[in-house]
Amino acid sequence: MDIQKILNEIYKEIKPHLGKGRVADYIPELAKANPKDFAMSVVTLDGKSYHIGEHKKRFSIQSISKVYTFTMALKMYSKKLYQRVGVEPSGTPFNSLVQLEYEKGKPRNPFINAGALVVTDSLITHYKDEFITLENILSFLRSTSHTPDININPYVAKSEMEHGYRNRALANLIKDFKNLDNDPLTVVETYSKQCAVEMNTDELATSTLFLANRGVDPISQKAYITPTQAKRINAVMLTCGHYDASGEFAFHVGLPGKSGVGGGIIAIVPGKMGICVYSPPLNEYGNSYVGTLALELFTTKTGLSIF
Ligand code: GLN
Repeated sequence: MDIQKILNEIYKEIKPHLGKGRVADYIPELAKANPKDFAMSVVTLDGKSYHIGEHKKRFSIQSISKVYTFTMALKMYSKKLYQRVGVEPSGTPFNSLVQLEYEKGKPRNPFINAGALVVTDSLITHYKDEFITLENILSFLRSTSHTPDININPYVAKSEMEHGYRNRALANLIKDFKNLDNDPLTVVETYSKQCAVEMNTDELATSTLFLANRGVDPISQKAYITPTQAKRINAVMLTCGHYDASGEFAFHVGLPGKSGVGGGIIAIVPGKMGICVYSPPLNEYGNSYVGTLALELFTTKTGLSIF
């Protein structure tokens, strides 16, 4: 299969759609993104990579970070983690509060904000300190992407903290239900910083390879997690990775994937490749509009959906 040729076709087909959707502005720093930016990278298990667009341009990974923190927490706590956070789709927006009240502070899954806050809290408990936690999140991203200079954009983190009242509300509610060990503000701050990490599509596609390869990084041969854990993470990405549009993403794209409000989406073809696409304007569910379209074109043209 000529992956580069398929990507070139996709580039041509998505061009008329660039700019459709709305760039996230509830974190003002993210509103500075160029709505016409686009990049897509495919990295295969044998280490070959294919790109279109601005694949060297870094962007805010936002909720894509939740996949890596979930992976770290699952490695540390194994099944015990599920006592604190479930694995069911929520059917609600990523920052919803209502369900959390009904369900007594146990978030539906690790990819909605409530669940990601619990996961980050579990990491802070493990490392005993929020700064060491962030250092470990960064080293995990550096190691899986084979890129030593991945960092947090402090302006994005600050911008989110200045406006993140909803995440504070979520953390306070979870604390009230005794499902948070640490100070809620510390947890929200750590979470906002992990979301403010910047990477490009090449780095992100590479960093998903261990999930496409039963937990083992095919480049370094390092086993990050067990094959069962990789299977579970991919399953949760498929069912919950796009919030209340997860069904639609499975329907149109048919791959485990995770979006972020920065405009990035990672996706995995098990046993074959990692993919990342970037286009800042979002659809009504907070997922990249053109990014979703590009992934749909990719699975249609290659036949590489999991179904
Ligand atoms: N940092 C963002 C928030 O908590 C992440 C949301 C997202 O990417 N969906 O609101």
